[in-house]
Amino acid sequence: MVTGPDFFGYTRLLRDIENLRESAGLDNMALVLLRLKGVDEVNKTLGYTAGDEVLSAVAGRIAGVAREQDCLTRLGGDLFALLIRNPLHEGHAILGAKKAVQVITEPVAIGANRARLRASAGIAFLAPGAATTAEEFLRQGELAVKEAAAGNDDYLVYRPALDTVQQTPQALWAEVDDALHQGEFEIHYQPKLELRTGRLIGAEALARWRHPVKGLLSPAQFMPVIEETDSVRTLLWYVLNTGLRQASAWQTHCPGFKIAVNASPLSLADTDLVALLADATKIWHFPADQLILEITETALMRSPKASTGRLHQLRELGVHVSIDDFGTGYSSLAYLKVLPADELKIDKSFVLPITHSATDRRLVESIIQLGHAVGLEVVAEGIEDEATAQTLVAMQCDIGQGYHLGRPLDAAAFEARWLSGDGSSAIAATA
Ligand code: C2E
Ligand code: MG
Ligand code: MG
Repeated sequence: MVTGPDFFGYTRLLRDIENLRESAGLDNMALVLLRLKGVDEVNKTLGYTAGDEVLSAVAGRIAGVAREQDCLTRLGGDLFALLIRNPLHEGHAILGAKKAVQVITEPVAIGANRARLRASAGIAFLAPGAATTAEEFLRQGELAVKEAAAGNDDYLVYRPALDTVQQTPQALWAEVDDALHQGEFEIHYQPKLELRTGRLIGAEALARWRHPVKGLLSPAQFMPVIEETDSVRTLLWYVLNTGLRQASAWQTHCPGFKIAVNASPLSLADTDLVALLADATKIWHFPADQLILEITETALMRSPKASTGRLHQLRELGVHVSIDDFGTGYSSLAYLKVLPADELKIDKSFVLPITHSATDRRLVESIIQLGHAVGLEVVAEGIEDEATAQTLVAMQCDIGQGYHLGRPLDAAAFEARWLSGDGSSAIAATA
């Protein structure tokens, strides 16, 4: 039995499921959702009438796979639902899904042309006796087909683990934003040392999310979802205020202590950025020239002209600018020469291999010379062993950062490790 296509495919399917359960007392069902791919291409290349012809041919073929008692519904432009009553076992539905995918992908003749669609299937089971609602049954099928289509799989059976990986970016963003407002974020500080002497000169403030269930999360787990949203401003404000408050307190232990804060590409484009930094330094009576704003080379290169203008404004305020992850973007020498920056931070992917790769060693040495040639202080990040630290000292790299010198620590641990006592702990981890 084929129903639809109509505007109410979902309503009809949910009603069919409920009817089967309530009227017929049937609670052993499988739902096979079939996501067709390539319909748009047919519409664009052969026209909408041809697109409809292909869909109708394919619907007929899927119906041919179904048994008389199964229901086929078209849910949307390229989504079909096959409701299988009383499947004998799991393999029965899987076989149905595989057959359906196979018949969908066989070519359809349209006049002198041949169109070929692709498809993925998602399968959900309504176990006998389970209290699962029709809506939940359908949701499980949708989750399975979404995952199957994303992975270009022929079929995928719903399993509860899909619920956790399938948190939508929107839901995840809302969760991060709430967490920011509820104080679940904290900052870890990683020391920056003068390489030649091993003297502590400051720290980079790195955001962490102490998730109530998942534990401590690093930026890779939350930055991608908030990077292009207004939440980056909330995060920057939080990191700035917390970092400056902390760094102000640490001035007594380490006069001139510099704090580096990361700015996202969106923050760089934010017209309020300079005012935000000015406010924060004022609130904490923090010398602007001890605040470093780290901006990735890639972010700066998104719009070189606008970035240069913004950096000039920051410089007027007295804030220092660091070009982070240098080497991963594509800045030209001419651009580097005019960029109003103070520091160049070599990306760790270049630093990590210098003790065993002559090419990387030469590359890092050239970057250091290049940075010095245009008047920048050069920082190497990702120093994981003493040999790397010594190689960089020999190359006259100014500042170092890395697990070998000091891992990111929360404020209390950082203070205990680097700033307690008479300051002697600030001396050379490289020595
Ligand atoms: P980044 O600014 O380049 O920061 C350095 C990253 O390298 C940190 O990762 C740090 O923990 C890691 N690292 C330090 N030493 C070593 C080492 O010796 N070996 C290796 N393999 N890694 C090392 P983390 O904290 O996970 O931060 C990753 C990135 O997330 C940062 O890269 C930065 O771009 C971004 N980020 C961190 N906090 C913030 C923030 O508050 N705002 C924004 N916009 N971005 C942030
Ligand atoms: Mg950084
Ligand atoms: Mg970096």
